[in-house]
Amino acid sequence: EKDKPSCAGCGAELQTLSKDRPGYVPATALGAEGAICQRCFRIRNYNDAAQVSMDHDEFLRLLGGIASTDSLVVHIVDLFDFEGSLISGLQRFVGANPVLLVVNKIDLLPKGTNYNRIRNWVQRQAKAQGLRTVDVVLCSAKKGMGFERVVESVEQLRGRRDVYVVGATNVGKSTLINRLISDYSDLDRELTVSRFPGTTLDEIRIPLDDGKAIVDTPGIVYPSRLTELVPRGVLGALLPDKPIKPLVYQLDAGQTLFFGSLVRFDYTRGANLSFTLYTANGLKVHRTKLERADDLYAQHKGELLAPPTAEELEQMPAWTRHSLRIPRGSESDVFISGLGWIRVNGTSGAQVEVYVSKGVKVLVREALI
Ligand code: GDP
Repeated sequence: EKDKPSCAGCGAELQTLSKDRPGYVPATALGAEGAICQRCFRIRNYNDAAQVSMDHDEFLRLLGGIASTDSLVVHIVDLFDFEGSLISGLQRFVGANPVLLVVNKIDLLPKGTNYNRIRNWVQRQAKAQGLRTVDVVLCSAKKGMGFERVVESVEQLRGRRDVYVVGATNVGKSTLINRLISDYSDLDRELTVSRFPGTTLDEIRIPLDDGKAIVDTPGIVYPSRLTELVPRGVLGALLPDKPIKPLVYQLDAGQTLFFGSLVRFDYTRGANLSFTLYTANGLKVHRTKLERADDLYAQHKGELLAPPTAEELEQMPAWTRHSLRIPRGSESDVFISGLGWIRVNGTSGAQVEVYVSKGVKVLVREALI
Protein backbone atom coordinates (compact mmCIF):
# COMPACT_ATOMS: atom_id res chain seq x y z
CA GLU A 1 0.00 0.00 0.00
CA LYS A 2 1.19 3.49 -0.86
CA ASP A 3 2.07 5.86 1.97
CA LYS A 4 -0.51 8.54 2.60
CA PRO A 5 0.94 11.94 1.63
CA SER A 6 1.88 14.20 4.51
CA CYS A 7 2.38 17.95 4.78
CA ALA A 8 5.90 19.03 3.91
CA GLY A 9 5.55 21.79 6.49
CA CYS A 10 4.22 20.18 9.66
CA GLY A 11 4.16 16.48 8.81
CA ALA A 12 0.41 16.07 9.39
CA GLU A 13 -1.29 13.56 7.11
CA LEU A 14 -2.91 15.54 4.31
CA GLN A 15 -6.69 15.33 4.06
CA THR A 16 -9.41 17.13 2.11
CA LEU A 17 -12.45 16.41 4.26
CA SER A 18 -12.31 18.63 7.31
CA LYS A 19 -11.08 22.20 7.39
CA ASP A 20 -10.92 22.08 11.15
CA ARG A 21 -8.58 19.15 11.41
CA PRO A 22 -4.80 19.06 10.96
CA GLY A 23 -3.49 18.48 7.46
CA TYR A 24 -6.46 19.99 5.63
CA VAL A 25 -5.73 20.93 2.05
CA PRO A 26 -8.17 21.91 -0.72
CA ALA A 27 -8.56 19.00 -3.14
CA THR A 28 -7.15 21.07 -5.99
CA ALA A 29 -3.85 21.49 -4.17
CA LEU A 30 -3.46 17.84 -3.22
CA GLY A 31 -1.05 15.70 -5.16
CA ALA A 32 1.50 18.38 -5.93
CA GLU A 33 5.09 17.59 -5.10
CA GLY A 34 5.94 18.89 -1.62
CA ALA A 35 2.32 19.80 -0.89
CA ILE A 36 1.66 21.59 2.38
CA CYS A 37 -1.50 21.95 4.39
CA GLN A 38 -3.55 25.11 4.36
CA ARG A 39 -2.39 26.15 7.80
CA CYS A 40 1.28 25.90 6.83
CA PHE A 41 0.50 27.67 3.59
CA ARG A 42 -0.90 30.59 5.50
CA ILE A 43 1.98 30.73 7.89
CA ARG A 44 4.43 30.71 5.01
CA ASN A 45 2.49 33.37 3.21
CA TYR A 46 2.58 35.49 6.26
CA ASN A 47 6.30 35.00 6.55
CA ASP A 48 6.87 36.07 2.98
CA ALA A 49 4.74 39.11 3.58
CA ALA A 50 6.26 39.94 6.93
CA GLN A 51 9.86 40.61 6.01
CA VAL A 52 9.76 44.36 5.76
CA SER A 53 11.63 46.97 7.62
CA MET A 54 11.75 50.71 7.39
CA ASP A 55 13.93 53.53 8.52
CA HIS A 56 13.44 55.63 11.58
CA ASP A 57 11.60 58.59 10.03
CA GLU A 58 9.09 56.49 8.15
CA PHE A 59 8.58 54.45 11.24
CA LEU A 60 7.87 57.46 13.42
CA ARG A 61 5.29 58.63 10.87
CA LEU A 62 3.65 55.24 11.10
CA LEU A 63 3.70 55.33 14.88
CA GLY A 64 2.09 58.75 14.79
CA GLY A 65 -0.85 57.16 12.98
CA ILE A 66 -1.45 54.82 15.89
CA ALA A 67 -2.27 57.73 18.19
CA SER A 68 -5.44 58.44 16.24
CA THR A 69 -6.69 54.84 16.46
CA ASP A 70 -8.43 53.19 19.35
CA SER A 71 -6.23 50.18 19.90
CA LEU A 72 -4.02 48.12 22.13
CA VAL A 73 -0.34 48.55 21.31
CA VAL A 74 1.82 45.48 21.79
CA HIS A 75 5.47 46.43 21.90
CA ILE A 76 7.81 43.48 21.50
CA VAL A 77 11.32 43.86 22.84
CA ASP A 78 14.25 41.48 22.92
CA LEU A 79 15.43 40.78 26.45
CA PHE A 80 18.88 40.01 25.14
CA ASP A 81 19.01 43.51 23.62
CA PHE A 82 16.61 45.41 25.82
CA GLU A 83 17.93 48.98 25.50
CA GLY A 84 18.69 48.34 21.83
CA SER A 85 15.16 47.24 20.97
CA LEU A 86 13.02 49.46 23.19
CA ILE A 87 11.42 52.12 20.99
CA SER A 88 12.28 55.35 22.72
CA GLY A 89 9.51 57.90 22.67
CA LEU A 90 6.87 55.25 21.97
CA GLN A 91 4.62 56.85 24.56
CA ARG A 92 4.43 60.09 22.60
CA PHE A 93 3.32 58.33 19.46
CA VAL A 94 0.71 55.93 20.73
CA GLY A 95 -1.28 58.66 22.43
CA ALA A 96 -3.75 57.45 25.01
CA ASN A 97 -3.64 53.85 23.81
CA PRO A 98 -2.44 51.31 26.35
CA VAL A 99 0.92 49.59 25.79
CA LEU A 100 1.49 45.94 26.56
CA LEU A 101 5.20 45.19 26.75
CA VAL A 102 6.05 41.70 25.55
CA VAL A 103 9.60 40.73 26.42
CA ASN A 104 10.78 37.99 24.09
CA LYS A 105 13.66 35.49 24.08
CA ILE A 106 13.60 34.62 27.76
CA ASP A 107 14.72 31.15 26.73
CA LEU A 108 18.20 32.65 26.39
CA LEU A 109 18.49 33.37 30.10
CA PRO A 110 20.64 30.94 32.02
CA LYS A 111 18.86 28.05 33.68
CA GLY A 112 17.47 28.92 37.08
CA THR A 113 16.91 32.61 36.38
CA ASN A 114 14.35 34.26 38.63
CA TYR A 115 11.69 35.51 36.20
CA ASN A 116 9.96 37.68 38.78
CA ARG A 117 13.15 39.63 39.29
CA ILE A 118 13.52 40.04 35.54
CA ARG A 119 9.98 41.28 35.22
CA ASN A 120 10.48 43.86 37.96
CA TRP A 121 13.70 44.99 36.35
CA VAL A 122 11.92 45.42 32.99
CA GLN A 123 9.15 47.42 34.64
CA ARG A 124 11.64 49.76 36.31
CA GLN A 125 13.63 50.25 33.12
CA ALA A 126 10.57 50.92 30.98
CA LYS A 127 9.32 53.44 33.49
CA ALA A 128 12.71 55.16 33.61
CA GLN A 129 12.49 55.47 29.80
CA GLY A 130 9.15 57.22 30.12
CA LEU A 131 7.07 54.27 28.94
CA ARG A 132 3.88 53.52 30.84
CA THR A 133 2.88 49.90 30.40
CA VAL A 134 -0.41 48.28 31.35
CA ASP A 135 1.31 44.93 31.63
CA VAL A 136 4.69 43.27 31.11
CA VAL A 137 4.74 39.68 29.87
CA LEU A 138 7.85 37.56 29.45
CA CYS A 139 7.91 34.92 26.75
CA SER A 140 9.84 32.97 24.22
CA ALA A 141 8.14 32.97 20.85
CA LYS A 142 10.55 30.35 19.62
CA LYS A 143 10.13 27.90 22.48
CA GLY A 144 6.51 28.74 23.19
CA MET A 145 7.28 29.74 26.78
CA GLY A 146 4.85 32.13 28.44
CA PHE A 147 2.77 32.20 25.32
CA GLU A 148 -0.58 31.56 26.95
CA ARG A 149 0.03 34.58 29.14
CA VAL A 150 0.66 36.69 26.03
CA VAL A 151 -2.60 35.61 24.40
CA GLU A 152 -4.47 35.99 27.67
CA SER A 153 -3.13 39.46 28.26
CA VAL A 154 -3.86 40.57 24.67
CA GLU A 155 -7.42 39.25 24.85
CA GLN A 156 -8.02 40.85 28.22
CA LEU A 157 -6.55 44.22 27.39
CA ARG A 158 -7.79 44.78 23.89
CA GLY A 159 -11.48 44.67 24.75
CA ARG A 160 -12.95 45.16 21.29
CA ARG A 161 -10.09 47.00 19.76
CA ASP A 162 -7.49 46.42 17.10
CA VAL A 163 -4.08 45.26 18.22
CA TYR A 164 -1.03 47.05 16.81
CA VAL A 165 2.18 45.08 17.09
CA VAL A 166 5.35 47.18 16.99
CA GLY A 167 8.98 46.28 17.40
CA ALA A 168 12.52 46.65 16.12
CA THR A 169 13.86 44.15 13.59
CA ASN A 170 15.11 40.80 14.90
CA VAL A 171 13.22 40.93 18.18
CA GLY A 172 11.16 37.91 17.08
CA LYS A 173 8.06 39.77 15.95
CA SER A 174 7.36 37.44 13.01
CA THR A 175 7.98 34.37 15.12
CA LEU A 176 5.53 35.64 17.71
CA ILE A 177 2.85 36.62 15.21
CA ASN A 178 3.23 33.25 13.53
CA ARG A 179 2.39 31.65 16.84
CA LEU A 180 -0.66 33.87 17.13
CA ILE A 181 -1.76 32.95 13.62
CA SER A 182 -1.37 29.26 14.21
CA ASP A 183 -3.27 29.55 17.47
CA TYR A 184 -6.09 31.40 15.81
CA SER A 185 -6.19 29.16 12.76
CA ASP A 186 -6.67 26.15 15.01
CA LEU A 187 -10.08 27.59 15.60
CA ASP A 188 -12.87 27.29 13.11
CA ARG A 189 -12.23 30.59 11.49
CA GLU A 190 -11.28 31.82 8.09
CA LEU A 191 -7.92 33.44 8.31
CA THR A 192 -6.51 35.65 5.65
CA VAL A 193 -3.30 37.53 5.80
CA SER A 194 -3.15 40.51 3.57
CA ARG A 195 -0.94 43.46 3.19
CA PHE A 196 -1.41 46.84 1.69
CA PRO A 197 1.86 48.04 0.30
CA GLY A 198 2.16 51.65 -0.67
CA THR A 199 -0.13 52.95 2.03
CA THR A 200 1.52 55.03 4.72
CA LEU A 201 0.78 52.26 7.13
CA ASP A 202 2.49 49.40 5.36
CA GLU A 203 0.70 47.00 7.54
CA ILE A 204 -0.45 43.42 7.59
CA ARG A 205 -3.90 42.79 9.01
CA ILE A 206 -4.79 39.49 10.58
CA PRO A 207 -8.55 39.53 11.11
CA LEU A 208 -10.06 38.53 14.43
CA ASP A 209 -13.56 37.17 14.74
CA ASP A 210 -15.07 40.36 16.13
CA GLY A 211 -14.23 42.32 12.99
CA LYS A 212 -11.08 43.70 14.55
CA ALA A 213 -7.56 42.73 13.57
CA ILE A 214 -4.04 42.17 14.70
CA VAL A 215 -2.05 44.71 12.75
CA ASP A 216 1.59 43.92 12.14
CA THR A 217 3.77 46.94 11.41
CA PRO A 218 7.17 46.84 9.70
CA GLY A 219 10.16 46.28 11.93
CA ILE A 220 12.14 49.39 12.74
CA VAL A 221 15.84 49.25 11.96
CA TYR A 222 17.95 50.59 14.81
CA PRO A 223 21.51 50.99 13.57
CA SER A 224 22.57 51.43 17.19
CA ARG A 225 22.71 47.67 17.46
CA LEU A 226 25.77 45.72 16.53
CA THR A 227 23.46 43.11 15.00
CA GLU A 228 22.40 45.67 12.38
CA LEU A 229 25.95 46.67 11.51
CA VAL A 230 27.60 43.30 10.99
CA PRO A 231 27.60 41.59 7.60
CA ARG A 232 24.91 38.92 7.32
CA GLY A 233 27.34 36.05 7.87
CA VAL A 234 28.38 37.32 11.30
CA LEU A 235 24.86 37.54 12.69
CA GLY A 236 24.78 33.88 13.64
CA ALA A 237 27.77 34.33 15.94
CA LEU A 238 26.08 37.23 17.76
CA LEU A 239 22.57 35.87 18.20
CA PRO A 240 22.52 33.12 20.80
CA ASP A 241 20.22 30.21 20.03
CA LYS A 242 20.63 28.34 23.30
CA PRO A 243 20.45 29.43 26.93
CA ILE A 244 23.52 31.49 27.69
CA LYS A 245 26.15 29.83 29.81
CA PRO A 246 27.75 32.86 31.42
CA LEU A 247 31.54 32.90 31.41
CA VAL A 248 33.32 34.37 34.40
CA TYR A 249 36.63 36.21 33.99
CA GLN A 250 38.70 37.27 36.96
CA LEU A 251 40.56 40.38 35.80
CA ASP A 252 43.19 42.75 37.13
CA ALA A 253 43.28 46.32 35.95
CA GLY A 254 45.45 46.31 32.83
CA GLN A 255 43.78 43.36 31.14
CA THR A 256 41.78 43.26 27.92
CA LEU A 257 39.13 41.00 26.44
CA PHE A 258 38.51 40.74 22.70
CA PHE A 259 35.16 39.43 21.45
CA GLY A 260 36.35 38.24 18.08
CA SER A 261 37.28 41.45 16.32
CA LEU A 262 33.91 42.96 17.10
CA VAL A 263 34.42 44.44 20.54
CA ARG A 264 37.38 45.23 22.76
CA PHE A 265 36.88 45.54 26.52
CA ASP A 266 39.67 47.06 28.64
CA TYR A 267 39.66 46.93 32.41
CA THR A 268 41.74 50.01 33.14
CA ARG A 269 41.32 50.96 36.79
CA GLY A 270 40.22 49.20 39.97
CA ALA A 271 40.93 46.19 42.16
CA ASN A 272 40.95 42.58 41.03
CA LEU A 273 37.35 41.90 39.98
CA SER A 274 35.25 39.23 38.40
CA PHE A 275 33.24 39.93 35.26
CA THR A 276 30.44 37.70 33.97
CA LEU A 277 29.95 37.60 30.21
CA TYR A 278 26.42 37.23 28.89
CA THR A 279 27.13 36.90 25.20
CA ALA A 280 26.47 34.22 22.58
CA ASN A 281 28.49 31.20 23.61
CA GLY A 282 29.75 30.63 20.10
CA LEU A 283 31.57 33.96 20.10
CA LYS A 284 35.26 33.48 20.87
CA VAL A 285 36.72 35.57 23.69
CA HIS A 286 40.44 36.28 23.84
CA ARG A 287 42.17 37.64 26.94
CA THR A 288 45.39 39.62 26.82
CA LYS A 289 47.37 42.32 28.61
CA LEU A 290 46.21 45.85 27.93
CA GLU A 291 49.73 46.86 26.91
CA ARG A 292 49.73 44.19 24.19
CA ALA A 293 46.17 44.77 22.97
CA ASP A 294 46.94 47.27 20.18
CA ASP A 295 49.59 45.04 18.64
CA LEU A 296 47.53 41.91 18.96
CA TYR A 297 44.62 43.58 17.20
CA ALA A 298 46.78 45.04 14.44
CA GLN A 299 48.35 41.67 13.72
CA HIS A 300 45.49 39.28 14.27
CA LYS A 301 42.18 41.00 13.55
CA GLY A 302 39.99 38.91 11.29
CA GLU A 303 42.12 35.80 11.96
CA LEU A 304 42.93 34.79 15.51
CA LEU A 305 40.46 37.47 16.53
CA ALA A 306 37.38 36.39 14.58
CA PRO A 307 34.59 36.74 13.62
CA PRO A 308 34.36 38.75 11.48
CA THR A 309 36.86 37.81 8.81
CA ALA A 310 39.25 40.50 7.64
CA GLU A 311 37.06 41.07 4.58
CA GLU A 312 33.89 41.40 6.61
CA LEU A 313 35.63 43.75 8.99
CA GLU A 314 36.31 46.13 6.11
CA GLN A 315 32.57 46.52 5.60
CA MET A 316 31.97 47.64 9.18
CA PRO A 317 32.22 51.12 10.68
CA ALA A 318 35.46 51.83 12.53
CA TRP A 319 35.67 51.50 16.30
CA THR A 320 34.98 54.29 18.68
CA ARG A 321 35.93 54.29 22.37
CA HIS A 322 33.52 54.54 25.31
CA SER A 323 35.00 55.38 28.73
CA LEU A 324 32.73 54.04 31.42
CA ARG A 325 32.76 54.40 35.16
CA ILE A 326 31.03 51.67 37.14
CA PRO A 327 29.04 53.33 39.93
CA ARG A 328 29.50 52.32 43.54
CA GLY A 329 26.59 51.09 45.54
CA SER A 330 24.81 48.75 43.12
CA GLU A 331 25.76 45.90 40.83
CA SER A 332 26.02 46.96 37.19
CA ASP A 333 26.12 45.62 33.66
CA VAL A 334 28.14 47.09 30.84
CA PHE A 335 25.57 46.75 28.05
CA ILE A 336 26.72 46.62 24.42
CA SER A 337 23.71 46.57 22.10
CA GLY A 338 23.65 43.43 19.99
CA LEU A 339 26.55 41.77 21.78
CA GLY A 340 24.93 41.28 25.17
CA TRP A 341 26.32 42.52 28.47
CA ILE A 342 29.12 42.12 30.97
CA ARG A 343 28.18 42.04 34.62
CA VAL A 344 30.69 43.73 36.91
CA ASN A 345 30.68 41.74 40.13
CA GLY A 346 31.36 44.19 42.91
CA THR A 347 30.67 47.86 43.31
CA SER A 348 34.11 49.29 43.15
CA GLY A 349 33.91 52.45 41.10
CA ALA A 350 36.00 50.66 38.49
CA GLN A 351 36.90 52.16 35.12
CA VAL A 352 36.51 50.32 31.82
CA GLU A 353 36.89 51.22 28.14
CA VAL A 354 34.81 49.66 25.40
CA TYR A 355 35.75 49.76 21.71
CA VAL A 356 33.02 48.96 19.21
CA SER A 357 31.79 50.13 15.80
CA LYS A 358 30.74 53.77 15.84
CA GLY A 359 27.02 54.14 16.49
CA VAL A 360 26.54 51.07 18.63
CA LYS A 361 24.77 51.83 21.90
CA VAL A 362 26.96 51.23 24.95
CA LEU A 363 25.86 52.00 28.50
CA VAL A 364 26.12 51.07 32.15
CA ARG A 365 22.89 49.88 33.73
CA GLU A 366 21.55 48.23 36.85
CA ALA A 367 22.44 44.53 36.63
CA LEU A 368 19.72 42.45 34.98
CA ILE A 369 20.71 39.17 36.61
P1 GDP B 1 11.56 39.96 13.49
O1 GDP B 1 12.59 40.62 12.62
O2 GDP B 1 11.29 40.77 14.71
O3 GDP B 1 10.33 39.57 12.78
O4 GDP B 1 12.25 38.66 14.09
P2 GDP B 1 12.17 37.13 13.63
O5 GDP B 1 10.90 36.52 14.10
O6 GDP B 1 12.52 37.01 12.21
O7 GDP B 1 13.36 36.56 14.55
C1 GDP B 1 14.66 37.10 14.52
C2 GDP B 1 15.64 36.09 15.06
O8 GDP B 1 15.39 35.87 16.45
C3 GDP B 1 15.53 34.74 14.40
O9 GDP B 1 16.84 34.21 14.29
C4 GDP B 1 14.67 33.94 15.35
O10 GDP B 1 14.93 32.57 15.27
C5 GDP B 1 15.11 34.49 16.69
N1 GDP B 1 14.05 34.39 17.70
C6 GDP B 1 12.76 34.77 17.60
N2 GDP B 1 12.10 34.52 18.75
C7 GDP B 1 13.00 33.98 19.60
C8 GDP B 1 12.94 33.49 20.94
O11 GDP B 1 11.93 33.50 21.63
N3 GDP B 1 14.11 33.01 21.45
C9 GDP B 1 15.27 32.96 20.75
N4 GDP B 1 16.34 32.45 21.33
N5 GDP B 1 15.35 33.40 19.50
C10 GDP B 1 14.24 33.90 18.93
